[in-house]
Amino acid sequence: MHVCVPHPGAALGDWSIKAPFPLPEVSFLEQGDSTSWPSPAMPTSPERSHGKERAKAPRWTRQEAMEERELQGLGEASATGPSTDDLELGLELPGTGAWGCELGLVEEKPAPCPCPSPQALFPRLGWDDELQKPGAQVYMHFMQEHTCYDAMATSSKLVIFDTTLEIKKAFFALVANGIRAAPLWDSKKQSFVGMLTITDFILVLHRYYRSPLVQIYEIEEHKIETWREIYLQGCFKPLVSISPNNSLFEAVYSLIKNRIHRLPVLDPVSGAVLHILTHKRLLKFLHIFGALLPQPSFLSRTIQDLGIGTFRDLAVVLDTAPILTALDIFVDRRVSALPVVNEAGQVVGLYSRFDVIHLAAQQTYNHLDVSVGEALKQRTLCLEGVLSCQPHESLGEVIDRIAREQVHRLVLVDDSQHLLGVVSLSDILQALVLSPAGIDALSA
Ligand code: ADP
Ligand code: ADP
Ligand code: AMP
Repeated sequence: MHVCVPHPGAALGDWSIKAPFPLPEVSFLEQGDSTSWPSPAMPTSPERSHGKERAKAPRWTRQEAMEERELQGLGEASATGPSTDDLELGLELPGTGAWGCELGLVEEKPAPCPCPSPQALFPRLGWDDELQKPGAQVYMHFMQEHTCYDAMATSSKLVIFDTTLEIKKAFFALVANGIRAAPLWDSKKQSFVGMLTITDFILVLHRYYRSPLVQIYEIEEHKIETWREIYLQGCFKPLVSISPNNSLFEAVYSLIKNRIHRLPVLDPVSGAVLHILTHKRLLKFLHIFGALLPQPSFLSRTIQDLGIGTFRDLAVVLDTAPILTALDIFVDRRVSALPVVNEAGQVVGLYSRFDVIHLAAQQTYNHLDVSVGEALKQRTLCLEGVLSCQPHESLGEVIDRIAREQVHRLVLVDDSQHLLGVVSLSDILQALVLSPAGIDALSA
């Protein structure tokens, strides 16, 4: 059953003149939809007024065209491959600590890594020097001057889950709709209370999986609200959201500080979700429009000089390890992806949280004994190999590649494919946007 929730246009107020919102049709999946899988949400084409276009807020047509293509690709049965980015400003909200809290895993334990920890190779001195140079704040200013509204798609699919939906159906609905996450609507509270992401699927599996021979009846029977009550017990985590008129700088800060990857943009008047911002979308915005700005000198310096990324205590998984081990590491380390290494420490693949949704797509979530290497082979529309970069490559080259390939990170390797580090969108956005403001949200 699909229910259209009131769209934000119902109460535009003075926004209607300045920056009218797109009016997304919302596909609302609720418990009543009991016999069949929810059908894919309708893509919408909300109109924006061009009446008073802000001089510095270009319509994001090239990017949107790209996103249209991504959406079409993802609408197909499989939820594999890089997708469009779907998805408050709680600047002072606590981090998303519920993860380990519930599982008694608050302390982060580094996974055993058969690779060197080459932190000494990547001093951050170069970056600190660069920040003193004129022009180093160009991206910070750009993101401060533009709002979340500027980076929102004019047309995108938005799927919302009612908290009474069964969790199994919810994860299947992520797959069926080719999306990574959905805002959660609590009809009793008449408000959005959280997000359901692939990480939640990982948490559910991590908590309830016993063996291939034992069916995970909790997945079959629990509703989202049941899971949240069990999981969030004593660890209440409010929805982190942002207003369309907040700056993109604040969006970057909120994503990194709260250690989340999905930031719903909520209409301040109606409370409706307008869009879901992600690191990918923010980087794309910066990449496209940043090209029109004066190029700071740091773009031509190497990753090795600048030390942008993580180079020690890397969370990795052996290709021969069972998927269950990868899930344990995801929960334990809270990283978005694991470089997959062989016995010799060479990188042979990458297993990201996103890839875990294949277990729902293929209904194989009862087979967590399958090796990570095997799971990677079974990905239907996978990226071949691993997208990597090398220490001598410039920051500009790395940003170009990560934006072009639409992935959340590149793996840093040496000439013989030995793992040196991970350069994630979180590292890049922290460096380009927050560090010039003297903010370190990543390690806060
Ligand atoms: P993924 O990388 O799998 O999309 P996230 O890193 O965004 O997942 O989510 C990590 C945890 O934080 C999950 O339990 C998810 O439900 C929760 N979460 C994600 N986004 C938000 C948000 N905007 N507000 C509150 N909780 C969130
Ligand atoms: P998300 O949009 O959820 O952040 P990711 O970028 O983590 O998604 O992953 C999307 C897909 O791209 C996954 O199949 C993942 O394995 C793959 N992928 C992501 N980064 C890399 C990489 N550096 N090398 C190879 N594959 C990658
Ligand atoms: P992400 O979760 O990718 O947005 O990244 C958040 C932080 O974790 C960044 O500083 C990344 O460099 C770091 N990171 C990402 N993946 C790994 C990993 N496998 N091991 C160690 N750190 C990681």
